[in-house]
Amino acid sequence: MATKLKDLSKLCVHTLTTKPWDLKQCIKNYSAAGIHGITIWRNVLEGQNLSAMRELLNDYGMEVVSVARGGFFPSVKKEKRQAAIDDNLWAIDQAFLVRAPVLVLVCGADSRQSLEKSREQIQEGILRILSQAKNAGVKLAIEPLHPMYAGDRSAINSLEQANQMAEEINSEFVGVAVDVYHLWWDNNLQREIQRCGQNGNLFAFHVCDWNVPTKDFVNDRGLMGDGCINVSQIRGWVEDTGFSGYNEVEIFSDKYWAMDQIEYLEKIKNAYLKFT
Ligand code: ZN
Repeated sequence: MATKLKDLSKLCVHTLTTKPWDLKQCIKNYSAAGIHGITIWRNVLEGQNLSAMRELLNDYGMEVVSVARGGFFPSVKKEKRQAAIDDNLWAIDQAFLVRAPVLVLVCGADSRQSLEKSREQIQEGILRILSQAKNAGVKLAIEPLHPMYAGDRSAINSLEQANQMAEEINSEFVGVAVDVYHLWWDNNLQREIQRCGQNGNLFAFHVCDWNVPTKDFVNDRGLMGDGCINVSQIRGWVEDTGFSGYNEVEIFSDKYWAMDQIEYLEKIKNAYLKFT
């Protein structure tokens, strides 16, 4: 079991968690709230001067934990697979420019072909962008997604599958992002987290909660303590591997996006200290 979190020093917030804010607002408001870890979603980088953003991050004492997200490699259409490669190369450049050590990959799936075929294309895609990632010093984190997304968002749906792919690729630049939302149900989770850590593949840890009932399978994630995930038990397993990175709060929620985001940030801090 994890020891209780005493402070906010390992708290990171994903910019999409506070979707109503642009990147500047995220930086300023997180910093003012005593939160210094940030994972930047690419939607808030669009149209921004990235070196100016990098300066702003420095000025406000923010550490960029990851950029989200690359991936979406599989397609029955060759042009689409190529477009995905180009987009991922751009994502690696963006991560480099904001000094993010990790690019998170939501790997993708195409329902017109088998999951096995999609997984092959994911592996091919990662191998095609790997040298650019190495040159940029940006690590690639395969994020397994809950099986309910196997039709369209990811053909990698368990930590076992993600571990296997990372081990096959066998590069210090390819690892895994563990997200409690996607993996909490897995009876092999503790074992697979251990395996992930032992192989040096545990690159990121994402937290939120699973609402019961869940009203929307994309935008109804809960805040820690709202639902049925034992987040602190899973954090304990992650920390048992020697992981000392950030606990990243990643919540897509129409309900919370409708709130005053400053108040919401306070709720996040409380839930973080109490239920993470
Ligand atoms: Zn995640």
